[in-house]
Amino acid sequence: MNCVLWLKRKALQAPDAPALLRGTRLVADHATLARRAAALAGSFVASGLVPGERVMLLSANQPAYLEALFAIWWAGLVAVPVNAKLHPREAAYILEQSGAKAVCVDEEWRDKLAASFTDVRLITLDGGEYSQYVMHPPIDVVDVADSALAWLFYTSGTTGRPKGAMLTHGNLAAMCLNYVAQVDAIAPADCILHAAPLSHGSGLYALPHLMAGAAQVVPESGGFVEDEVIALLAAHRGVTMFAAPTMVKRLARHAGWTARALRGLKLIVYGGGPMYVADAEDALRIFAGKLAQIYGQGETPMTITALPRAVMNDAAHLRFRERLASVGVPFTGVEVRVCDKAGRELPVGEVGEIRVRGGTVMAGYWRDAAATAAALSEGWLLTGDLGSFDAEGFLTLKDRGKDLIISGGSNIYPREVEEVLLTHPGVAEVSVIGEVDVEWGEVVVACVVGRDGFADAAALDAHCLRHIARFKRPKQYRFLSALPKNAYGKVLKTALRESLR
Ligand code: AMP
Repeated sequence: MNCVLWLKRKALQAPDAPALLRGTRLVADHATLARRAAALAGSFVASGLVPGERVMLLSANQPAYLEALFAIWWAGLVAVPVNAKLHPREAAYILEQSGAKAVCVDEEWRDKLAASFTDVRLITLDGGEYSQYVMHPPIDVVDVADSALAWLFYTSGTTGRPKGAMLTHGNLAAMCLNYVAQVDAIAPADCILHAAPLSHGSGLYALPHLMAGAAQVVPESGGFVEDEVIALLAAHRGVTMFAAPTMVKRLARHAGWTARALRGLKLIVYGGGPMYVADAEDALRIFAGKLAQIYGQGETPMTITALPRAVMNDAAHLRFRERLASVGVPFTGVEVRVCDKAGRELPVGEVGEIRVRGGTVMAGYWRDAAATAAALSEGWLLTGDLGSFDAEGFLTLKDRGKDLIISGGSNIYPREVEEVLLTHPGVAEVSVIGEVDVEWGEVVVACVVGRDGFADAAALDAHCLRHIARFKRPKQYRFLSALPKNAYGKVLKTALRESLR
């Protein structure tokens, strides 16, 4: 089925219920949102786009972004949401590779693209002509199969060129059902606050909320501004947010929380990168009972494992800290295995590659048969992530194969060292990498962003000696003012290694 049918149904069942807001201002009820999506879809079709063709979305978060996303599906087209913080060269690569015929842009991107892409139709979401598009004669939802493409999800590209994971309507529907089965039930009176990029997790989570008839709230700023988030939580009820770990960390440390804002918050779902135990504990102090973690990747959107809020709230559990360090248990609708290189399932406790099979797993990479063959094997997705299960079925991620440090023949997982360093009060951020060494093969190097000018290597060494095996201790400390990160806030270890060389 076409997932946007959910919008069409809500327009019939609850036409007057709020569907889309900018901050606290109502932009559209369900009937209006469906009408605008149908009209915009009509204008896409009138311009010659046919089902299956790609339309890129390249804009900061704004209400029209969601209208355009729904319109793309309404017309049977494929959305290519791209992070608006990418470099123009990266966006241009995705535009070419996806073969998108049209791009929905904000004014900023319009100027950047117009010069180099003359044969692509640009639809400015915040421009004057947009009001014409949504006045176009509407069309009915285009009928598509479950296997039809809905979303080309370009990987964030911490290594190599981004690849477009082909997500079908069936994949997205499976993601939504897994969400309500394991993360949270959604009521029509709830809403989702899109402070994180709509091109990624937040945009994907627009869907289960659409399915449930809940509202979509886009902040006025179009992004993540802590004070604004807190003010919006105070103004709304039943609010869910998807957040990257760095956002959760910043929110937890913010001094401006009010009882009213905390009452408005229903759930923060975080994921997309590692959350260290010390940071999770900090966050739980303020958001107790309102935090859940998910582990997924573009290739199986938002759906591999989840750490449900009940588990995160069970501080009395004997293995609470281990569970907090884990990414939780497999989602209801997918199989998750830890395997050796030959694809054989490994016993509990052993580290291997995580493989996933189920309704959320992508159809392959767009126009990249070699990458598809490397990532999909007999229905299983090879995630490239390493991890191990415990006896109760909780999965803990280890670092990706390429980040593993082998020093003097011993495997050292940077994450473990990072977890320890982060418990030191002087450490704000840290990334641990291996550096080539003639004697040891590799040595452990910690790149530290100190808090309030902290730069005491001896103190950190003593701290490590108290908590981890001697051979895992960093041999060197580099104190930096910031860590290199990609557009989604993930630390770029390759760039870090290169900059230190
Ligand atoms: P992306 O496809 O850009 O969403 O990146 C997915 C990758 O982010 C995964 O393969 C993991 O390496 C990492 N990741 C996602 N969720 C988590 C999580 N909860 N904890 C640690 N790493 C995560």
